[in-house]
Amino acid sequence: AITDTDWVGLAEKARELKRNESREDMRFDGRVVIVTGAGAGIGRCYALMFGRLGASVVVNDLGVSTTGQGSSSRAADKVVEEIKGFGGKAVANYDSVEEGEKIVDTAIKSFGRVDVVINNAGILRDKSFMRMSDEDWDLVQRVHVRGSFKVAKAAWPFMIKQKYGRIVNTASAVGLYGNFGQANYSAAKLALVGMSNTLAQEGSRFNIKVNTVAPNAGTRMTATILPPEIVEALKPDFVAPFVGYLANEKNEVSGGVFEVGSGWISRVRWQRSRGVAFPIRNGFSIEQVASKWKEIVDFKSVDYPTNPTESLSMMISSVENVNKPS
Ligand code: NAD
Repeated sequence: AITDTDWVGLAEKARELKRNESREDMRFDGRVVIVTGAGAGIGRCYALMFGRLGASVVVNDLGVSTTGQGSSSRAADKVVEEIKGFGGKAVANYDSVEEGEKIVDTAIKSFGRVDVVINNAGILRDKSFMRMSDEDWDLVQRVHVRGSFKVAKAAWPFMIKQKYGRIVNTASAVGLYGNFGQANYSAAKLALVGMSNTLAQEGSRFNIKVNTVAPNAGTRMTATILPPEIVEALKPDFVAPFVGYLANEKNEVSGGVFEVGSGWISRVRWQRSRGVAFPIRNGFSIEQVASKWKEIVDFKSVDYPTNPTESLSMMISSVENVNKPS
């Protein structure tokens, strides 16, 4: 007969199996992960997480200040040491993301492949638009947009060939919604949403999933603008698991945009009002637009286009109006 003690033992065994199962479930053994800007802040957290979960990690960091000045190998080296310290596999790379091919080269030379790219490196050059210089504009575009492009571009042929890849690009709520003093940064961050959505479509036949996160985390980037208690609640550790999920082979989502911070995760999408179709045979006037304004911006009836074909559908049906008298 089975005694109570046996039952307790069996239940404990079952719980342990379940724990091991979920622990092993979403690991990265055999996967090579590039994390850019991994020497500090959110990127460092990503790198440590991937290292703990069995990945071989390329820890890229140019070691610059928040505004992109200087350079140092210390930031990347420290994180590599940390990963090796707990028995993980990691290699440092000190190139700017603008030299994406060199970063991918480090992955190939050190580990023989590349499975995941986390485009995370970033800088700020906040100025009111009135005072923003060409340099403030260009530097921010170069690091965020060109940098993410260069790393993804260099990894892309490998991902196509192996029919596998996961790319996570880093946007910002500032890109999605705009913010005073950040015209350069918000333009760059929304550019990455556009790039991701196109890559998601181009990569779909090859099992390459591309997503965008808009994180919020207390790092040196935000420490100067947020109160200390908020910085504490916005630990980068509370962003990392979600990016780990997107980077995992079990993730099926592509072309998603997500806001993530302090353990809160949400998906963002474009919402479009039903709109108004004007008779177009003889054109229509500004006054007609004005008279329908309320309807144009009315979000009572909406759709959520996810590609240009869906976007075009309403305009195509509007063409049917061509024969309607104005
Ligand atoms: P951070 O300043 O703590 O870390 C960024 C890292 O990127 C630094 O180690 C820096 O040396 C590195 N870096 C900068 N330029 C580089 C380049 N050209 N090549 C390689 N490395 C480079 O910043 P963070 O707060 O961890 O931000 C990480 C990412 O998240 C950035 O893209 C940032 O724009 C974005 N983001 C952060 C927040 C937030 O709340 N912290 C909010 C929205 C978006």
